[in-house]
Amino acid sequence: MDNIKNDTLEILLSQDEIKAKVKEMAGQINEDYRGKSPVLVGILKGSVVFLAALMKEIEIRCSIDFIAVSSYAGASETSGIVKMIMDLRESITDRHVLLIEDIVDTGLTMDYLKDNLLTRRPASYNICSLLSKPSARRVPVDVKYLGFEIPDKFVVGYGLDYQEQYRNIPYIATLKPEIYRRNK
Ligand code: 5GP
Repeated sequence: MDNIKNDTLEILLSQDEIKAKVKEMAGQINEDYRGKSPVLVGILKGSVVFLAALMKEIEIRCSIDFIAVSSYAGASETSGIVKMIMDLRESITDRHVLLIEDIVDTGLTMDYLKDNLLTRRPASYNICSLLSKPSARRVPVDVKYLGFEIPDKFVVGYGLDYQEQYRNIPYIATLKPEIYRRNK
């Protein structure tokens, strides 16, 4: 059978591990943002699975919005150039903004978005990321809510893609080397 799970090599984080962590992160957000009605800003497309899971565990009043940026353009190495592809719908002026990201790698995306979004004068601004690769960092990023630190390996699943595929794998995994060779 053609099953994309057969393309994965090593499972770094299982569905159960992620589920428990997402619940814990939402619990902290519920406490910290009580009475503040934050806007959760999902960064497309990688954050959608994480955002959907997280918001179901959030019990305070909140809204969601999306922003799309690109830095990889289909490759597994960052180009270092961040581009905005789609802006937010709503104004974030005087709103409590919680940016929801799948993974902080070099930090360039977060750095770009911080500069851009702070000019709109939100009431507060924080970052929530499921994953972080601290050893790949090129610029410092303050991640207030972090799920897991992972080694500097290219991972897919739980919203993260390789050439737009594998976002629907429900766990975080590496891919078999032949998958990259096939696409060269
Ligand atoms: P940064 O700007 O911090 O280098 O990278 C942020 C973006 O790069 C993430 O939102 C994600 O889209 C992509 N990225 C970084 N590392 C990985 C990875 O291991 N796997 C996948 N699929 N995307 C990654």
